[in-house]
Amino acid sequence: MHLFDDNPFLWFAPWARILPSSAPGLLVSAGAKIYTLHPAEYFRRLLANLDGTRRVTEVLALGFEVACLQTLKDERLLIVLRSAVSANDPYSRELSAFAALDRIYPDTALSRLQNARIAILGVGGIGCRVSETLVRAGVRHLFLNDIDRVERTNLNRQTLFTPDDEGELKVAVARSRLQAISPDVRIEICSEDILGSIDWPFSTSADMTLLTADATPHHPRIPYAHTGAVTIAGYRAEWAEVGPTLSPERGTVCYECFRHLFVSEEYLSDEAKKPSNNSVNCSGSVINALASAMIAQEIILFLGFPDRPSPLLGKRRIMLMTNFEAEEVLVTSMCQHTCPPAISV
Ligand SMILES: [Zn+2]
Repeated sequence: MHLFDDNPFLWFAPWARILPSSAPGLLVSAGAKIYTLHPAEYFRRLLANLDGTRRVTEVLALGFEVACLQTLKDERLLIVLRSAVSANDPYSRELSAFAALDRIYPDTALSRLQNARIAILGVGGIGCRVSETLVRAGVRHLFLNDIDRVERTNLNRQTLFTPDDEGELKVAVARSRLQAISPDVRIEICSEDILGSIDWPFSTSADMTLLTADATPHHPRIPYAHTGAVTIAGYRAEWAEVGPTLSPERGTVCYECFRHLFVSEEYLSDEAKKPSNNSVNCSGSVINALASAMIAQEIILFLGFPDRPSPLLGKRRIMLMTNFEAEEVLVTSMCQHTCPPAISV
């Protein structure tokens, strides 16, 4: 399809800068590159009209030539959109970030995120930051699950809570903070222990489920009526652990088979799940921020840009926060023939 056939809105690469220059051409920097556009005055006027509010036909009606638009496209300086950019839209800046990933219809990625249903099981250090990041990025449908109430010791890392929230249910406080950030967001909450249970909101409709509860290292069962993707985030001392993302639709083992193939029975035992009474939960602010940023980006890329493999698809990445060294573990097995479509627990 020709770029301009369906008359899209045009946006001059929002991350580009026009450089001051006495040269006859217009100097534009984008990333590490500097482009020269001739003649300077013509392109200066053209770029001013490529503000994401005008369609191709409107730009051409102002007297500009399609060949110049083609030049900008060839230089990777042109973004095409299905809908106009709104200057007051809080998501317009997110859209500019998506445009760096996909120059052709990045607004499709935004609308995918806006329509996605995401379950976050565990609203602690990672769940707080990830839910906030996703809502600020445009996500509008969340399910939050956590059985705990806010404690003072949470406040070093659980960014949705304040001292005034002490004793309140985490999911209730989180919902109210997230809705204050974005009135558009719809959030279902549950403070019951649902890990291992069959029926919970989003259990059959989540496009992605993030496991980031205290029980996550023990890989709790989740209902296998679940058909969406599953991703995992946590930490261990100074190691941030993110992934793998599991999605049989995209060629990985399913979560249930992953449990059986990659997690030892000893780790899954009831005894291992009991909290130790003589250890302090080791959980710093920075390690939660690090794991949260990585897993939020994974979710955004997985849901918003399905045509490209997301960074953690079938991979677990373990990063040492003291020097940023990382290890990667590939999850290459495929589901067994016996992989059941639904597992009762
Ligand atoms: Zn399977």
